[in-house]
Amino acid sequence: MFETADMLWLRQVESSLRYHAVEFQWEGFEPRLTCVARGGDDVFDIDLGQVDFVISDARECVGYFDGDSYTSCPNKTSVTRFAQCADCAGESFIPFQECVFEPKCDGEICDMDFCRREHVLYLAFYDTKAKIGMSSTRRIERRLVEQGADAFAVVGAFPTRRRAREAEKQISSRLRIPQALRQEAVLNGFSRALDAAGIEERFHGLASSIESQFGLKVEGLRWVDAYPIDLPLDLPPQLRDTAGRHRGKLLGMKGKWLVYDSGSINALNLWDVPSRFIDVGISPSTTAPRKIKK
Ligand SMILES: [Zn+2]
Ligand SMILES: [Zn+2]
Repeated sequence: MFETADMLWLRQVESSLRYHAVEFQWEGFEPRLTCVARGGDDVFDIDLGQVDFVISDARECVGYFDGDSYTSCPNKTSVTRFAQCADCAGESFIPFQECVFEPKCDGEICDMDFCRREHVLYLAFYDTKAKIGMSSTRRIERRLVEQGADAFAVVGAFPTRRRAREAEKQISSRLRIPQALRQEAVLNGFSRALDAAGIEERFHGLASSIESQFGLKVEGLRWVDAYPIDLPLDLPPQLRDTAGRHRGKLLGMKGKWLVYDSGSINALNLWDVPSRFIDVGISPSTTAPRKIKK
């Protein structure tokens, strides 16, 4: 397989990156990337204001939180699809990880409160592009901030997560509202002024279809507009590979993306960082091997 000089360099340095990223979340409109020093247990938030990161390709289980107390993965297990290994997922009361992504039960298989709890369906707007999704009722606003939506509306409530998912799929296919938008499609909107009137119009159209065809109660449109970023940008950000070097001037953050200017405008997907190793301020000139053997 073809490997760029940057990837070769990354393989040389990634085992010496000092921090392990374990969690990314928003608190209100403040994004936080939580890390631990490699081999340690003390958690801290990395400064996202100085964009000079090296991020590993390799991924290792993020361990688990019990309230505020953090335990690193006892086996340092390599991971791929999930950020946690099965042992650590069990410790954080997620014994059946499949249900996290796609509810398979009403709590009888996974025994998680999560599957038993009431869920709502929402319409999220990325400028005038809409998608439909679901969330546990407790964290709806937080979820929409995490996703970088411009506005949203709750369009129905269901007694369990699986029931909400079934309705989500039906509405999605009948009204042709996607359940997910491509990252590039959302990022392209970063260089256009928000069409607030267009969003309202699209919302009212979809809301009346959902009410008349599905008998659901649609709530009002709510705006999500305090992200730490000045939009629109001059150009849409280009999504970069997570693994590698990210260096430039911070332009801001919205949803899962950190946007920076390095001569071109780039986006780093911060959702994809936990489980990877990260370091700040590493210069390739001082750490790159002098010769690369064939
Ligand atoms: Zn683990
Ligand atoms: Zn379940």
